[in-house]
Amino acid sequence: MKNGSAVAGFYKLDINKRHRIVKRFAKLSEKDLRLLKGAALSLKTADRMVENVVGTTHLPLGLGLNFLINGRDYMVPMALEEPSVIAAASHAAKLARPTGGFVAGSDEPLMIGQIQLTGIKNLKKARKLVLKNKSRIKEMANSLDSTIVNLGGGVKDVDARILKTKNGKMLIVHLIVDVRDAMGANIINTMCEFVSPFLVGITGGKIGLRIVSNLATKRMAWARAVWSKDIIGEETVDGVLKAYAFAEADAHRCTTHNKGIMNGIDAVLIATGNDFRAVEAGAHAYASNGGYKCLTKYKKDWHGNLIGSIEIPMAIGIVGGVTKTHPVANISLKILGVKNAQELAAIIASVGLAQNFAALRALATEGIQKGHMELHACNIAVIAGAKGTAVEKLSKRLVKERDISVSRAKELMKTLFRRKKKIIVKKKIRVRIR
Ligand code: NAD
Repeated sequence: MKNGSAVAGFYKLDINKRHRIVKRFAKLSEKDLRLLKGAALSLKTADRMVENVVGTTHLPLGLGLNFLINGRDYMVPMALEEPSVIAAASHAAKLARPTGGFVAGSDEPLMIGQIQLTGIKNLKKARKLVLKNKSRIKEMANSLDSTIVNLGGGVKDVDARILKTKNGKMLIVHLIVDVRDAMGANIINTMCEFVSPFLVGITGGKIGLRIVSNLATKRMAWARAVWSKDIIGEETVDGVLKAYAFAEADAHRCTTHNKGIMNGIDAVLIATGNDFRAVEAGAHAYASNGGYKCLTKYKKDWHGNLIGSIEIPMAIGIVGGVTKTHPVANISLKILGVKNAQELAAIIASVGLAQNFAALRALATEGIQKGHMELHACNIAVIAGAKGTAVEKLSKRLVKERDISVSRAKELMKTLFRRKKKIIVKKKIRVRIR
């Protein structure tokens, strides 16, 4: 495809045409398209995923367009219910394309597993013994997962520290594990449980928790982009910088600033079958280190262009969890065409940055409601009872009147569709008379 992910007017095309474009872009099969068109998650699959299944729920899956990341074009699958998010991310990515798009990357996929040992008399001695037995602990844990070890992963380091708590002092052992292309929670939890009896044997302690840490500070993803002042305008550059300063100085604003980042990030996580709670927990804990701060940063370069950047812990996978069992996650990964989890982490960080820039740009200029109007009006029309073609008709009218409220929608329902109802009623009466 000539322009890769920059498909002009994609939003105006009907869904069949969009399917043809994404099919060509990502070399999807007819079966993939059928899955996208239909209810992709069967009850049978759902029943294997969680407990007490009685149904499935669906979210719209859209494509974030225009993403040029490290010189490669990506169409980014995003699953969410909130209008405008996908359009905003695509627009921000479009505005960054002339200046090279996003430069992004991520750390080696190192996750931390924590093992809690309590009731130890000589904590210093116990700590030394754990560190002395590093190789033995590594060997034991690595014997559990030859797949990741053969791929170059496995336990890379073992650490131990004495922690003062309100319940007394305890020894906390960390396993630093390279989980390769997996998110890694299950791999790590299994390893932590497996080496625990050995740790009890050498320290004389009582075993407590054995679990992955969601504060994945050794697994950061980052992205950077330049938005040219000639494209977005000097006023927007200054507006974004003021908005950023506000968020850095005020936790109420900063929370919403970071929420906007997660709008994009969660949407990609959900589309690719990743554990969005894990990334959310890590993101906000990371943002809180030393007082709650923004996950993005903005500054001006010498020419007055806007430079945006993001840094965020990114514990995600392209294998394991439901990434392969959920059919839509599978197709989403195919559309992205990523080779490993590190590449996906870099894409997700870029989407977070794009999302945040788009929100700040809109907030600092026209406000965000303008872009929101049409799809929001559709939702209001449905709440007011509109069905089928009436949804579009009613929502257009609401936008035109600039009064997108349920009360106005209900009033319009009465006037706009009253005549039709009467006709239907008449028809029914005729049928009865016959
Ligand atoms: P998983 O248990 O499915 O393990 C992944 C498996 O894939 C490994 O056993 C590994 O051997 C294999 N594998 C094959 N090719 C690989 C490759 N290239 N790279 C890495 N592994 C490869 O998945 P997981 O990632 O260990 O666990 C993720 C799941 O754990 C998520 O569903 C998450 O919701 C859940 N979980 C999360 C938490 C938490 O975040 N606190 C706690 C418990 C469980």
